[in-house]
Amino acid sequence: MDMMVLRLSRLFLVLAVGFVIVLAPLAQAWSKEGHIMTCRIAQSLLDPAASEVVHNLLPEYVDGDLSTFCTWPDEIRHRHEYRWTSPLHYINTPDDACTFDYFRDCHDQHGVENMCVAGAIQNFTSQLMHYKDGSSDRSHNMTEALLFLSHFMGDIHQPMHVGFTSDEGGNTIEVRWFRRMSNLHHVWDRDIILTSEKEIYDQNMDFFQEDIQNNFTDGAWSDELSSWIDCDDLLTCSTKWAEESINLACKWGYEGITPGDTLADEYFKSRFPIVAQRIAQGGVRLSMILNRVFGHQPCQPNHHQEILPAT
Ligand SMILES: [Zn+2]
Repeated sequence: MDMMVLRLSRLFLVLAVGFVIVLAPLAQAWSKEGHIMTCRIAQSLLDPAASEVVHNLLPEYVDGDLSTFCTWPDEIRHRHEYRWTSPLHYINTPDDACTFDYFRDCHDQHGVENMCVAGAIQNFTSQLMHYKDGSSDRSHNMTEALLFLSHFMGDIHQPMHVGFTSDEGGNTIEVRWFRRMSNLHHVWDRDIILTSEKEIYDQNMDFFQEDIQNNFTDGAWSDELSSWIDCDDLLTCSTKWAEESINLACKWGYEGITPGDTLADEYFKSRFPIVAQRIAQGGVRLSMILNRVFGHQPCQPNHHQEILPAT
């Protein structure tokens, strides 16, 4: 994490001067920026075969850029025909339990099983596994499955997307982010990312992404990559990722928060590295899934699997 430490120390100087944050309207999703970075990181790690399939599944006008559509599931979730997808963006866990139990927690408000972000990842991964079988109507459904999977791999890594039921993952916990009104969920969806963009990355998300990718090659994460993609069964690993999120939500999201609190420098500097790591993990794991379902890598684990493309 050397690069990030360097940039962070620069950040503290900036923070000491103080600044104003501009908030976006209330939203309930890992921000556009978080999703775009997750997808860009994933796409940069695809092997040539997986890369070609992804390219073929996307509309021609995006020229193979998966990130263009990574926020699409947020855009359509309130449309009548897609309203069923709304519960797929998150998981409600019992208040203060700080655990995720798939059979206890992965359902919608009516109790319909598998209707949560961990179930959605299973469902769309499983659909994509049939890509190679071929069928007459596969292309439309496969494109949607790819976009949903890519989006939900972002959401499941946003710690507050696996939060407590009564506060809707922090949505009802009003706080100030520096001087502006916000809520705890939104702080994690977007405020931390936008503050980092403004204060660390010269308003350029490309620098944030570069920072993350430098940490893969020669930073603190280079030794951890293989553990991030450790996944024996593609269809059950989403449970593990959801458990990580609720653990982080309890330890770093909810911890010490009282409604009405003002969150500022200290919260930002201690939580930003977690946000960066979750975006990185979402991207790395999305590439792992796509490489296994579309590429030459086996769907069963290969313990010598390489994560970074050969240079
Ligand atoms: Zn979402």
